[in-house]
Amino acid sequence: MLFQHVIGQQDIKQRLIQTVAGNRISHAQLFFGYPGAGALPLALAYAQYVHCTNRQPDDSCGECPSCKKHEKMVHPDAHFAYPVVLSKDVRVSTHVIPKWREAVLNEPYLTLDNWLDVLDAESKQPIIAAEESGEILRKLSLTTFEAEYKIMIIWLAERMNVQAANKLLKILEEPPDKTLFLLVTEQEDHLLRTIVSRTQLVRVHRLPDAELAAAVQQKFELSAADAEKIAFQSDGNFASARKLIQEQEQAAQNLTLFQSWMRSCLKYDVAKWMEFLEVFSKGSREEQKQFLTYALELIRECLMWGYAGEQLVRVAGEEKAWLPKFAPFVHVNNGQQLMEQINQAMKHIDRNGSSKIIMLDLSFKINELLHIPNPAKLKA
Ligand SMILES: [Zn+2]
Repeated sequence: MLFQHVIGQQDIKQRLIQTVAGNRISHAQLFFGYPGAGALPLALAYAQYVHCTNRQPDDSCGECPSCKKHEKMVHPDAHFAYPVVLSKDVRVSTHVIPKWREAVLNEPYLTLDNWLDVLDAESKQPIIAAEESGEILRKLSLTTFEAEYKIMIIWLAERMNVQAANKLLKILEEPPDKTLFLLVTEQEDHLLRTIVSRTQLVRVHRLPDAELAAAVQQKFELSAADAEKIAFQSDGNFASARKLIQEQEQAAQNLTLFQSWMRSCLKYDVAKWMEFLEVFSKGSREEQKQFLTYALELIRECLMWGYAGEQLVRVAGEEKAWLPKFAPFVHVNNGQQLMEQINQAMKHIDRNGSSKIIMLDLSFKINELLHIPNPAKLKA
């Protein structure tokens, strides 16, 4: 990763570059970052800069063989340790390294939540266990392959358990020659004091709104106004900004999918149901549940619309514009049952049922329910 690809943080970049230029590289550094402000990207860019064979005054060259390897995270002298969900097959970071590389290359502003998704960890908590410290020692005792320094980046160092931390402490006390530890954490207070005291602190502050806005505008091709709004809501955290944008995109997709599904349910259009089932079943279980939660909300909004028009409606934009068209089909005689059926489907999906079968069944039921006449309409 090049420094220029890290959002803002000019002062830190300069300081890091100067440690290399002035030959003052401290052997253990703790990148303590405000969440989503770039502690991991900075550590990655620093590691690349230390290894670059054609360093420029303000960044790595991006061209030398070392930079090329860093850009793919395959430099033989750059090692990584990060929390994993322990199992029979997974004991240390190396056991899931393809996933790690893909996750970080895809999104250097990686969050623990992103990583849990990649690991498919559900509710299990990933940790850095004692075996990992042994592995760290083993990797660092190898002679360097290509570079002057061996670099070990430990991401979410606060997730080391006590045994791992104590073992690491011993290594930090007597570091092998020409090794560089870059510990990355968002919760410095969860680290052993003895570890913190043996590292040099690199404090990564929240991103100023203007810098964050400029970055999201460019990265996600937003208008300046939208980018400013997102930045304002994200509180200096790039990962939060990215999540908000993804949620907005997801909501737009959910609306389109929900609309076409309801249309097909009204018409008993089985061919369209099949198309819907294909799209729906491609989503992860979590995404499927999110879609159904969204469907529940819209059904509730339709009921509110029927009771009181737009006064009680909470949605806005395209969703609100669509309500008058669909709301007349949802009313006192079927609203409750529609919601119950959707809730049931969500429970079945949660229990690992086949999403296609569950949703086909739900589509039949919704078709029936939507054809119960609206009593308000009958009166009129
Ligand atoms: Zn280079």
